[in-house]
Amino acid sequence: TKPILEVKGLKKHFAAKSGWFQPTEYVQAVNGINLTVHEGETLSIVGESGCGKSTTGRCLLRLLEPTSGEIWYRGKDLTKLAGKEMRAMRSQLQMVFQDPFATLNPKLTIRRILEEPLIAQKVPKTRRAALIEETIHIVGLNPSHLDRYPHQFSGGQRQRIGIARALMLRPQLIVADEPVSALDVSIQSQILNLLQDLQEQFGMTYIFISHDLGVVEHISDRVAVMYLGEIVELGSKAELFQNPLHPYTKALISAIPISDPDEQKERIILQGDLPSPASPPKGCRFHPRCQSCMDICRTEVPKETYVLGQMVKCHLYS
Ligand code: SF4
Ligand code: MG
Repeated sequence: TKPILEVKGLKKHFAAKSGWFQPTEYVQAVNGINLTVHEGETLSIVGESGCGKSTTGRCLLRLLEPTSGEIWYRGKDLTKLAGKEMRAMRSQLQMVFQDPFATLNPKLTIRRILEEPLIAQKVPKTRRAALIEETIHIVGLNPSHLDRYPHQFSGGQRQRIGIARALMLRPQLIVADEPVSALDVSIQSQILNLLQDLQEQFGMTYIFISHDLGVVEHISDRVAVMYLGEIVELGSKAELFQNPLHPYTKALISAIPISDPDEQKERIILQGDLPSPASPPKGCRFHPRCQSCMDICRTEVPKETYVLGQMVKCHLYS
């Protein structure tokens, strides 16, 4: 399949001051990401909170300006587009957020919320009502609810509204940032199934951001594992879950609870906390927490290495 998105050397550094007398620190939230996303697939980005996955997702759609790097979408580098050209792209590139309540204007009816992207893209008024009714129906809500306000809906329903809003312009690519993390487990699978049905129906591509490996295993075709602003491993879901290569991925997967009591699994406990992205460790960023750390790991940054098509950034494989 063809790539829909190609990301090269994406970086996002924030200036952060801890006090007026302190020098400005640069938080390396995203530190040189390379990524190819194929048409129609679900690529998940997984990692602990603070690893830079949300920042990456926002940079990909230029809701945040990247510090450097290229983001090629269907032959165009999004980072080079002017504001007006980028706004025109919005119809193809949409985001679903973790907490739709925080991003749905409480003063507007659902009808009005769903109309907004249509107005922004100058969809003629005569077509809007039908599109809104069709879309609310597609996400499993009753069109009779369109004149209600966000607070009149449950969490799961609100996420359906958030998804409807993202769908209004029939996008090609959706970045979904922790779309089910705020929901009860029983509701989570309903929303995941909805996302999968919509993907089949519209042939969309998803970049799915999550800290929850159980959710990621349910929905992904391929998985990228992020640690401290970098992708440390990327492979097909089956390979990554059955044969993780990077010591960090191994630890994450060992921590997934198992339901089968006969299955034996050794849990790898990570040492220490996630270091600050303002002062990441030298060499391999994971080295202070790695059980396989070697001398070279403390000084040299590991390169992206391919093992049977699976990308891993670790000196054990170079
Ligand atoms: Fe561990 Fe070294 Fe691999 Fe980093 S490069 S994950 S420290 S073995
Ligand atoms: Mg986040």
